[in-house]
Amino acid sequence: MVDWHTRGEAGSGVIRLSEPHVNELLSANFWWLRGNDRDLVIDAGLGVVALREAIPAMFERDPMVLLTHAHLDHVGGAAEFTDRAAHPAEAELLTAGVPASLYGAELFDKLGIDATGEPVPELMIDVLPDPDYDPASYRIPPMTLHRLLDDGDHVDLGGRTLTVLHLPGHTPGSIALLEQRTGTLYSGDIIYEGALIDDLPNSDVAAYRRSMEFLADLDVSVVHPGHGRSFDRTRLRQLAEAYLRRDVQTRKS
Ligand SMILES: [Zn+2]
Repeated sequence: MVDWHTRGEAGSGVIRLSEPHVNELLSANFWWLRGNDRDLVIDAGLGVVALREAIPAMFERDPMVLLTHAHLDHVGGAAEFTDRAAHPAEAELLTAGVPASLYGAELFDKLGIDATGEPVPELMIDVLPDPDYDPASYRIPPMTLHRLLDDGDHVDLGGRTLTVLHLPGHTPGSIALLEQRTGTLYSGDIIYEGALIDDLPNSDVAAYRRSMEFLADLDVSVVHPGHGRSFDRTRLRQLAEAYLRRDVQTRKS
């Protein structure tokens, strides 16, 4: 059995989890936060390996899983939780079953990505989690939500409270979570180091621009993104401003 998840301390009782054997296009971070009353898991990885088997301690206090948006690399393990929350604009996709495949060509097709001229990975994982694993068996089950979260809502874990920020653009119901006490922002796929995706069938560039204008002025100490390394406020501002500039240039051409 391959050690599927990498686990690291991210400070202030937060554990960062990632999946190193997943292709970089889909290798996401997810975050386990410990509160006094309750634990929270922000996103749930690709779901190739059952979280309850890989990280049983995560389930000891019946955590809530909060989904930043309904993409396979963030919701794959979410069906294992008994309490799920997301923005209402993502609920329909989650209920229907999020499009998913571990085969690159099939996945791009399901997501509506035009990969003409781009290399498409054959398989989205670089090793099988165990020798008997069949990548063709991979799918994300339909799942209902127990809580709908919208802009300004609070999630109180006891001793730590997160504020929901609705920041559409990547998807209609993309949310970020801000812990005001520590200035920690969990940004999902709204902003990270690397190519941001605003050309999916349900992406919205105008909404993305408004989200970036908001983030450029947001006072935070650290951003824990859905992909890649964490960064500070200066970098947040640079990344948001780079997006806003890029879009203006694209429009002019
Ligand atoms: Zn995404």
